[in-house]
Amino acid sequence: MAKESGISKILAGTFVFLTISVIAGIVTMIIFYKTEIALMDPTPRPMFTSSTTSLPPVIRLPKNLVPQSYQVFLQPHLYTRIIEVVNVTSPNQTMLFTGNSTVTFHCVQGTSVVYLHSRNLDVSGPVVMNKDTNERIGVSSMKNEEDTRNFLEIQLNAALEAGGNYSLFLAFNGEITENLNGVFVSTYVRLSFICIHRFLAATNLEPADARTVFPCFDEPEMKAVFHVTIIHRRDTVALGNADMRDSNILDDVWKVTYFYPTPKMSTYLFAFTVSEFTDSADSPTDGRTYARPDAIAAGHAKYAANITGKILKFYENYFGINYEQKTLDQIALPDLGVGAMENWGLITYQEGGLLYEDGVSSLLHKEVIATLIAHELAHQWFGNLVTMKWWNDIWLNEGFATYLSFFAVAHMEPYSKMVSSLHNQDSFEVDALASSHPLSPPQEDVQMTFEIEDMFDAITYCKVQSNETRNEYIYDAEDEDGGHTTVAKVMNTWTKQMGYPVITINTTNGEVYQKQFLFNDSSESSDTSNGEWILANVNCAGYYRVNYNRENWERLSTQLETDPHRIPLMNRGQLVDDAFNLARAKLIEVTLALNSTRFLQNERALLPWESTVRNLEYFVLMFDRSEVYGPMQACGMKASFCLHSQILAIDVACSNALPECSAMATKMFANWMDNNRTNRIHPNLRSVIYCQAVAAGGAKEWEFAWDKFQSSIDTSEKDQLREALSCTKKIWLLNRYLKYTLNPEKIRLMDVGSTILSIADNVAGQALAWNFIRAHWEYVSNGGAASLIEGVTRRFSTQFELEELERFAADNNLSPTKYLQQAVEQTQVNIVWVSENKDSVLKWFENETAS
Ligand SMILES: [Zn+2]
Repeated sequence: MAKESGISKILAGTFVFLTISVIAGIVTMIIFYKTEIALMDPTPRPMFTSSTTSLPPVIRLPKNLVPQSYQVFLQPHLYTRIIEVVNVTSPNQTMLFTGNSTVTFHCVQGTSVVYLHSRNLDVSGPVVMNKDTNERIGVSSMKNEEDTRNFLEIQLNAALEAGGNYSLFLAFNGEITENLNGVFVSTYVRLSFICIHRFLAATNLEPADARTVFPCFDEPEMKAVFHVTIIHRRDTVALGNADMRDSNILDDVWKVTYFYPTPKMSTYLFAFTVSEFTDSADSPTDGRTYARPDAIAAGHAKYAANITGKILKFYENYFGINYEQKTLDQIALPDLGVGAMENWGLITYQEGGLLYEDGVSSLLHKEVIATLIAHELAHQWFGNLVTMKWWNDIWLNEGFATYLSFFAVAHMEPYSKMVSSLHNQDSFEVDALASSHPLSPPQEDVQMTFEIEDMFDAITYCKVQSNETRNEYIYDAEDEDGGHTTVAKVMNTWTKQMGYPVITINTTNGEVYQKQFLFNDSSESSDTSNGEWILANVNCAGYYRVNYNRENWERLSTQLETDPHRIPLMNRGQLVDDAFNLARAKLIEVTLALNSTRFLQNERALLPWESTVRNLEYFVLMFDRSEVYGPMQACGMKASFCLHSQILAIDVACSNALPECSAMATKMFANWMDNNRTNRIHPNLRSVIYCQAVAAGGAKEWEFAWDKFQSSIDTSEKDQLREALSCTKKIWLLNRYLKYTLNPEKIRLMDVGSTILSIADNVAGQALAWNFIRAHWEYVSNGGAASLIEGVTRRFSTQFELEELERFAADNNLSPTKYLQQAVEQTQVNIVWVSENKDSVLKWFENETAS
């Protein structure tokens, strides 16, 4: 409590500054922008026809065989210490896994060919048995097709009969990869008298990499029970989806761990890890939290271990359905290609998503961890228990989990209540800008692996509302063995909590769309007959946006200006958010949205400010283009007008380059540099202080931050420094930093994408980042091509940029994936937005500041 009151004082003081700074900044910017634009020769926007490509070849498995269960034996031949690699004659031995699997399946339609998935595996020794008669069926041929379908085709001497039960045994070996997919190797340094490099093996299989671990029916709806056995080195611990059943020493080197059978689950949720990790003593009885032994000893997994049980209990009560398994393990991996993965019973996280250090990590980081854990735990029901039939409906997994996570965290951590309500608004952003794929496209549009991967974008994660509920798909996925009751229970929770996206209220003719949602507890009117305002969704209890007729919007704005406290705090934030998003969806005029922010002059609470700042971010993105429109300093514009969506308003003050903030940051950072060992900067302020100090400083500050980044063993500190390094305004330092991303010793492969993105977020670095990813596309796109393109092109708003983007796609022969189409579409929309809104926005600001 004491820590936060200190911040509030600074906040209160900066609000007045902020009002002036934000408004003045935008006005200066727009006046400048207008002059610049007037000098340009506007080119008409070319017409783009939506590309209708012919349907891809069918890559789905035939549905004549239905898997029931798998017996999987796996042995990763992985040394845990680099020291031993030296003594090994063939270093390759350390990077192989061997194994065998027996899948039992039911035949629903006679066939003499078995198709299942296998990729990058050397498969041998097929044995097919009739489980009903115990007779062996001869195999005439087996081949792994060399196309994108990844089919392993096994021709039999006799046909399998409908109604029969069969099994297929296969032996295989594969490679432990270094690219964070399939079974991959991760390295970390264990500190003792000398630094020792350690290795661990882990998996990441969503959406279509289970087939690289063992041959399987690798489609989400083809669920089965998995009985897993792992042979691993004696000094390691093996974790799997289910709890350990037994474990024996085999010889001087090897040990075997048997796991209980899993619930019936999809292949993409399969997971195992083999490591020397230990678990936190704070873990609840029904779950364990694993991490590097150093991190566990330092107590960094404590927070995660503590809240996991609570969140799990919350969901169990909320859904009325207990968690399906006996235990739930979570593990913080030094390398992971995604933030976290919800593998049933063994959730994997990047270290930053699970490890928290008191006194070093910020409150914001704590909240990120809580929200991420809540998201992954929500998946244990949404996604794992109830699964979409096919990847086109992945939004059901991600949208529900995202929504529920904010809900759970708000109940868990009182400090985040306010912030969570804002995140809710994030998660149902009506983004007219990124509308390139419907939430649930037809199945035939999502066939190839790249198309499946495309589905994991912002729309899927954030846009959980839809004009019709599509629950038939989840029902489909669970219609066996009484799944209906379970699913109905889960769906009830959803339908009770979720609203349709926009409720429109017209106070002149009394028309209300979607009124069934209005008749809940949350409509407050101030005597409409008097021409007063009406406010729906009081305290944001419902999950939907509200639109009004113009008169009511204006009345609400006036009410806010004259006496904001008649409108609940939550709604003051929500009104701003709704207004801006409705404006972006062209449902209301942009000036109405701007009007809704007038009351900020008297607003002292954080929430409406945060909401405004976040929404103005798009304005800033579009207008703060020094490299496009010329140097802003020329007209007295503050160089850094980057209103990143920050939780703390102190961030906003600093990001607006208030001289007070910049000076404070520089001073605090200088103290740290002088003092080298003792960092007295408050953890909550570190990310912003670091960034500001590096931005204001030169090579000395940058190199100090780089040294600290290299030497720090704390994930949270490392991440903050890594981001701060991208804040410099020095082009040569940004170029050097970009080059470092090509060296995994300097920047881990999993961090390459986010590092480039933070450089692109910096106005000074955006063009550099765009050039850089084009020059090194093959390497950098490993860490997620979609988010790179999306991030680097966010500010694109000129014809020239549009052409560059299109040329890049053509030159690289990039498949016409959705993320490229989205980036192109976004740029087109930006161009239109700027041309449609610049005059009215400018006029609004001129009027506001004139009075
Ligand atoms: Zn998720």
